[in-house]
Amino acid sequence: MTPATATHWLDRHREQLLAFAARLIATPSPNPPGDERAVVHEIVTEMHNLGLSDTEIAAKVPERPNLIYRLRGGKTGPVLMLCGHSDTKPVGQRGEWRTDPFEPVIHDGKLYGLGATDMKGAVAAMVYATAALRQSAGELAGDLLLVIDADEERSMKFGAEYLAGEYGLRADVALLGEPSGIAGPEFEFLHLVSRGVACFKVRVHGTQTHSSLTDRLSAVNANQLLAEVITRMQRELQLTFRPHPLCSAPTINLAVQVEGGVGYGVCPGVAEFQSDIRTLPGMTRAQVEDDLEKCLNGIRRYHPRLRVELQFEELPLGWIAPTEVSADHPLVPALLRSAEEVLGRRPTLSAFPGGSDAAKFQGLAGIPTIPSFGPGWLNLAHGPNECVGVAAILQAAHIYVRAAATFLA
Ligand SMILES: [Zn+2]
Repeated sequence: MTPATATHWLDRHREQLLAFAARLIATPSPNPPGDERAVVHEIVTEMHNLGLSDTEIAAKVPERPNLIYRLRGGKTGPVLMLCGHSDTKPVGQRGEWRTDPFEPVIHDGKLYGLGATDMKGAVAAMVYATAALRQSAGELAGDLLLVIDADEERSMKFGAEYLAGEYGLRADVALLGEPSGIAGPEFEFLHLVSRGVACFKVRVHGTQTHSSLTDRLSAVNANQLLAEVITRMQRELQLTFRPHPLCSAPTINLAVQVEGGVGYGVCPGVAEFQSDIRTLPGMTRAQVEDDLEKCLNGIRRYHPRLRVELQFEELPLGWIAPTEVSADHPLVPALLRSAEEVLGRRPTLSAFPGGSDAAKFQGLAGIPTIPSFGPGWLNLAHGPNECVGVAAILQAAHIYVRAAATFLA
């Protein structure tokens, strides 16, 4: 099916789409603290103006609204969900920004502002793709479900987790518009795997005592021992996994934060470091925990006096499950072909490096979820001077329209 009507509609609404993306950036939704009401109000208003009037708000608490809209096709068929999150990370170091993070600026073909790439550009594109498809919805065999969810950047509790669990959201397949460029061109990859996250602490105990006595009494300096545990783990930790065709190995970052000691005069009694592992499909929390304990046991054998313990973080950070969608799923060729038609090149199949809402939509609700195909660059997300290509926002809308029309043909 050639979605000519929808494509022409998008071309005529080009400027409006870009202005909408800019307005979303100008409406702050940092998480923490987490309050998406203003930005969702902006989206609902725009959708109503575009004729998408039956919007629904699903919220666990009023300040964390999730927006849901169903575009009913003229014939029966599967439900395709397009999903973006409306929250952003906080600004962080404002001094590093060359422009005001909440005053969108276009420079050199890029739209700058907080959330531009992660992922207000994609949200705007998805809203306009839905409005464009409405022009010929009668031709669709199946429904398009547009979901703009809250709380992706922190706990997912009020967003994907609530929708996939308590609310009972159902769809046959979902596409998240997370940025899919990584340092190369936008739409560089079509990510089918969403890597999981395992965050944990390792705590080492020593002897807290007067530092002037360590030559007379036997005392253990927890900080020094911690340094040794870090270097030994770096060398000796062996995780159990099967290499995935799209992603060869998990990422291990030991000691992303280190804490310990009191200061001059005190032999440190306790020290700890935090670490994160990005897991592959097939890895389980029990196995990761076992591998870590095995490694620590090895270190304990060298140091009979070592008192060290492992503690996984609370959920969700303690364990976000990895997910994957098969390359044979009919949405994958539909996206690849649509991308080729719009961009003139095919993206490479790959694994999304970070965690995503896929953990909840797929992990809890069983909806196969493609974690990322959207405008922008993942490496610019969560940092200063975040930006998204202006052309890529428009291309995203065109790709979503074509892929949805093909999948729901
Ligand atoms: Zn994101």
